[in-house]
Amino acid sequence: MRINLLILGGTTEAKALAAAVSEAGIPAVFSLAGRVARPLDQPVPMRLGGFGGVAGLCDYLRREKITHVIDATHPFAAQMSRNAVAACADCNLPLIALSRPAWEVAEGDRWQRVPDMAGAVAALGGPRRTVMLAVGRMHLAEFAPNPQHRYLLRLVDPPEGALPLPDCHVIVARGPFGEADDRALMQEHGVDVVVSKNAGGSGAQAKILAARALGLPVIMIDRPTLPARREASCVAEVLDWIAHSGTDRGV
Ligand code: NAP
Repeated sequence: MRINLLILGGTTEAKALAAAVSEAGIPAVFSLAGRVARPLDQPVPMRLGGFGGVAGLCDYLRREKITHVIDATHPFAAQMSRNAVAACADCNLPLIALSRPAWEVAEGDRWQRVPDMAGAVAALGGPRRTVMLAVGRMHLAEFAPNPQHRYLLRLVDPPEGALPLPDCHVIVARGPFGEADDRALMQEHGVDVVVSKNAGGSGAQAKILAARALGLPVIMIDRPTLPARREASCVAEVLDWIAHSGTDRGV
């Protein structure tokens, strides 16, 4: 059977998958939203930018004669994941998500779990603290109702223009990061509390491990709920699915 994969990327796992399919000689296109100024090179052809919703994605899938879609986006990229489910159903294409389990609370953790970004904003009311706000550039403005804090931000690209938070310190860096480095960073800046999405996986976990080691509280944002879809937990499982999937669309 002719194979032509669409990999929806933006994660460490997506990069590993691209390397594996390239190694296996399987034709694939790697798709990124185009949020980052200098995306990392991939060993398969890349495309950048949104598709234009479900209809745009369907057009793309048909035009490019895609045979399989692998959703290896971040667990908080809910819109893209929902669109992928809808478009693959419309186009009768097999879809699998390369997903990673959420982080679980462990001994020493001081988590306050909140259901969403608004919950994190609400949890940050109260007197001034130094907050490591690790929610991504797109969500910073939502924290404007809490201008009393000092925010430590780590962004992939230097910010363009003023940030929506009056007192913040920006570090421009691209992960993955190490626990010891994050511990040192938190100590250097006197961080009182960390705000994080429950991303899961190892690439973004250093700050959670560092907070645990330092006994710092973490406001942990739960993952969004996604439609049911077939899921794989590792690259090998995706390769196996590609080899055996045909047009089976079960979840
Ligand atoms: P999102 O809210 O789910 O997506 C919004 C829109 O961006 C989608 O509807 C789609 O536009 C476009 N888009 C998203 N991912 C795309 C992809 N891989 N290829 C082409 N278009 C894409 O997504 P997001 O949370 O902004 O995340 C954007 C990207 O950053 C994803 O690739 C994700 O894996 C990565 N990322 C996200 C986070 C996070 O915390 N959300 C963290 C790390 C990395 P159209 O509707 O026009 O197709």
